Amino acid sequence: MENFPDHRVKVLNNMPVNDNGDFVLYWMTSYRRVRWNFSLDRSLMWAKRLDKPLVILEALRCAHRYACDRFHNFVMDGMKDNLLAVQNSEIAYYPYIEPDPDAGKGLLREFSFKACVVVTDFFPCFFLPGMTLAGASQVFCRMEQVDSNGLFPCRESDQVFVSAFSFRRHLQKNLPKYIMEAPEEAPLRRSELRRLKKFPDNIIQKWPRASEFLLLSEHRDLTKLPIDHKIGLTAIQGGSSQASATLGRFLNQRLRRYAEERNSVDHPATSGLSPYLHWGHISAHEIFWTLMRSEDWTPDKLSEKSNGKRTGWWGTGKNAEAFLDELVTWREIGFNMCTLTSNFDSYDSLPDWSRKTLADHQSDPKEFYYETGEFENAATHDNIWNAAQKELVRTGKIHNYLRMLWGKKILEWSVTPKRSMEIMIELNDKYALDGRDPNSYSGIFWILGRYDRPWGPERSIFGKIRYMSSERTRGKIDLKNYLTIYR
Ligand SMILES: Cc1cc2nc3c(=O)[nH]c(=O)nc-3n(C[C@H](O)[C@H](O)[C@H](O)COP(=O)(O)OP(=O)(O)OC[C@H]3O[C@@H](n4cnc5c(N)ncnc54)[C@H](O)[C@@H]3O)c2cc1C
Repeated sequence: MENFPDHRVKVLNNMPVNDNGDFVLYWMTSYRRVRWNFSLDRSLMWAKRLDKPLVILEALRCAHRYACDRFHNFVMDGMKDNLLAVQNSEIAYYPYIEPDPDAGKGLLREFSFKACVVVTDFFPCFFLPGMTLAGASQVFCRMEQVDSNGLFPCRESDQVFVSAFSFRRHLQKNLPKYIMEAPEEAPLRRSELRRLKKFPDNIIQKWPRASEFLLLSEHRDLTKLPIDHKIGLTAIQGGSSQASATLGRFLNQRLRRYAEERNSVDHPATSGLSPYLHWGHISAHEIFWTLMRSEDWTPDKLSEKSNGKRTGWWGTGKNAEAFLDELVTWREIGFNMCTLTSNFDSYDSLPDWSRKTLADHQSDPKEFYYETGEFENAATHDNIWNAAQKELVRTGKIHNYLRMLWGKKILEWSVTPKRSMEIMIELNDKYALDGRDPNSYSGIFWILGRYDRPWGPERSIFGKIRYMSSERTRGKIDLKNYLTIYR
C-alpha cells in the first residue's frame, strides 16, 4: 500500500528492523480477515519493501476466562476462511490452536527470531492489550501495532467523549479528513511476494499448525480442548464469507426498514453484524463502503454543518443515516473510551451524577431481587426478561431493544447497582458472540448512565437514571413470535 496512514501505527518496542530476517510476521489477533485490513496492508508494505515473504500467525488461546466451544468454533470458522483465501497467494498462513493453557507461550518469540518486522493489531479491551504488551517485550525486531478498528483512527483524539452528541460533532468536524482512508479491499489479488520455503522446524514441532482437517471440518471435535463445553455452538457461523453474506442480506432485505423498524423484534431490521465486527471477520470499512456504493455516495455529499445532529450529515437516505449513526458514532465512541481510559469497565468510570443518584436510591425497597444464578437460568418472574436471557444463552445474541430492557431490569433487581454491573458483564461476556468488546462496556454502562443524562421523574431504585418497563415494551413492540420461540 502506497502512502500508508502512519497515524494508524504505533511502534511498540525499540528494536530495529532486522534486514537479515527470513520473513515479515503479521501476528493477527483481532482483525481476523485477509481483506479490508490495515494491519495486513502494513505487513504487505514491509514484505515488499524488504523483498521478503509474509507469514501470518493467527493463534487461538484457550486460557482465557470465557474460552468455550461457542467462541472457539466461531473463530475456527474464520480461520477456515483465511486458510482458503490465502491458498492461491504467496502468503504463508500459520493457524495455531492452543491445546493446553499457556502451551502457546514462546511461539511469538520464536517466530520473531527469524522475523524482520512484526506487525500486530490494536484492540483496546479484554486480555488483548496485556497480551500485546507482553508479546512486544519478547520480540527481537521492530514491532508495530496498527489500528484498523474504525473509520476514525482511535488515537487521533485525546479527548474522552461523554456523550454521543459531542462525539458526533467531533466526527462531523474531523472525520472528513479520514473518510477516504480505507484499507485494501482485496490485498492478496496482486501481492507478488516471495514465497516462504518452509516454516522453521522447531516451531512446527513445538507448536504444530492447526490441521486443515480440523479447520475445514463441518463438525469440529472440540472435546479435547480445555475450554467450557457447556456454552455450545449456535446457528450463527463465523468467518469473513458469512460476514459478507450477512452484510449483503442486510443491505438487500432489511436496510430499507432500518430507520423505522430498528426496534422491531418479531420482524428484525437490524444487520446481525456485531459478532463479525467483534471477531474482526468484517471491517467497519467494508460495511461502510459497500453501503455507500449502494447509495451512489461520494464524499462531497457530506454536510459542512457540524451540529452534532443525528440526521442530515452523511448526505444519504434516512435508513443509511440511521445505520451509520450506530456503526460509526455509537460503535466508535466505545473505542474512544477504551483507548483513552483504563477504568472503562469499572463502576468508578460512571459520571458523577449517575453514581450519586444510584447511591441515593441504593437502599430503596425492592419488590424483586435476584442473584447471578437466577438471572443466568432465566428464572425471574418476568417472561420478557426470561425470553431475552434465553435468546442470549441459546443464540449468543440479544436484540438491541431487549438488550436495553435486559440490562435495566438487572439494575432494578440486583442487590446494588455495582453488583448489577458485575452481573451484566459476566452474562454478556460469557454468552454473547459479540461480548468482551468496547460496545459491551458502552451498552452495559449506558444502562447505568454513561453517555446519557438525568431523566425525570426521579424513581425508586433508578433515581434519575433512564427507566424502562416490560409492560411498556409489551405494549410498544410485537413480541408474539419471540415469546413463543424463547418460552
Ligand atoms: C446492556 C447492553 C449490552 C451490549 N453489549 C454489546 C456487546 O457485547 N457487543 C456489541 O457489539 N454491542 C453491544 N451492545 C450494543 C447493541 O445492542 C449491539 O451492538 C447491537 O444489538 C448489535 O446488533 P446488530 O449488529 O444487528 O446491530 P445494527 O443495528 O445492525 O448496528 C450495526 C452495528 O452498529 C453498532 N451498534 C449498533 N447499536 C449499537 C449500540 N447501541 N451501541 C454501540 N454500537 C452499536 C454495532 O457494531 C452493530 O453491529 C449492548 C447494548 C446493551 C444495552
